[in-house]
Amino acid sequence: MPDLSLLRELLPDERTALLITSDVNRRYLSGFPASAGAVVVTKSRLILMVDFRYYEAAQRAVQPPCEVVRCTRLIDDLNHIFLQENIQSVCIEDESVTVAYCNELQQALIPQVLTEGLSEKLIEMRTIKSADEVEKIITAQRITERAYTEVLNILRPGVTERKVAVELEHLIKLYGGERVAFDLICITGENTSLPHGVPGERVVKEGDFFTFDIGAVYEGYHSDMTRTVAVKSATDEMRMIYDTVLQAHLKAEQAIKAGNTAADVDIAARDLIEKSGYGEYFGHSTGHGVGLDIHEAPTVYKTNHTVLRDDMVITDEPGIYLPGRFGVRIEDMYLVKGNTPVDLAQIPKELTII
Ligand code: ZN
Ligand code: ZN
Repeated sequence: MPDLSLLRELLPDERTALLITSDVNRRYLSGFPASAGAVVVTKSRLILMVDFRYYEAAQRAVQPPCEVVRCTRLIDDLNHIFLQENIQSVCIEDESVTVAYCNELQQALIPQVLTEGLSEKLIEMRTIKSADEVEKIITAQRITERAYTEVLNILRPGVTERKVAVELEHLIKLYGGERVAFDLICITGENTSLPHGVPGERVVKEGDFFTFDIGAVYEGYHSDMTRTVAVKSATDEMRMIYDTVLQAHLKAEQAIKAGNTAADVDIAARDLIEKSGYGEYFGHSTGHGVGLDIHEAPTVYKTNHTVLRDDMVITDEPGIYLPGRFGVRIEDMYLVKGNTPVDLAQIPKELTII
């Protein structure tokens, strides 16, 4: 259960409430996944509102102090609660509510609708993970690792990217993932120079790099890992590029310390790649937060001066991409803990020749 006192800092008095309508933040605050509904937070109450389809399941799953209220027409039922609690103004999630829904709420809700501060507060709260959230991220990672280790058995010359991707998705679900964390990136040869390449009919050849950027979802929480392996052989140039990316990844790892900024981590990796002469071939940020969303705050980039704090989970994923030739990326998730980041992955990072 998130620390509601942080959220209630947004409530100046008893007559203000927070209205959370996005799927991900309803889940974050109530612990209950549903495709519709709302969460209302007042100074003294936390209420999950769900319709008939979810009511019984929510009553079983939701823990106090969260109350479950069944709704039939959400806006009317919200007004009922707001009248009951004498709420004069209600703050909505400005980053996820559409303009159309905002207009509807402004017209139909009895309290005044405010649009500032709530999304930002939730984004900030979600950067700090509870032990339970970290466990779920680790479980999602272990599912990915088991599937990855097994799928390496079919990675050989002649197999298509698509076959590898489909097999991996199957194994992730078989081993307990509710779904894959994003469209899996399983790409070979020249396609590895595309940071977000899409698996297709391309056939694996001897001497290819093969890049896996993969993850699973477990109880709503995502994992994210990238490995680049060589098929049968690797040239000296491939080994040199791989080693440069690995050194950049490890430099960034050393910068993942509570009190450092996200920018410090990005600059550690970026400096090394730039000094090696490949700066122009590393065009994305070094990492991002991971949790109920695959990409969440903080962005690990040189312009983000967010201070890292204990229990944040961020990725470290530098890469070098040589257009039309090949690319290398290495990515793990790390838990911020004082001066010693915890690597949440258990797959070796040295160049693997399959
Ligand atoms: Zn990734
Ligand atoms: Zn990532």
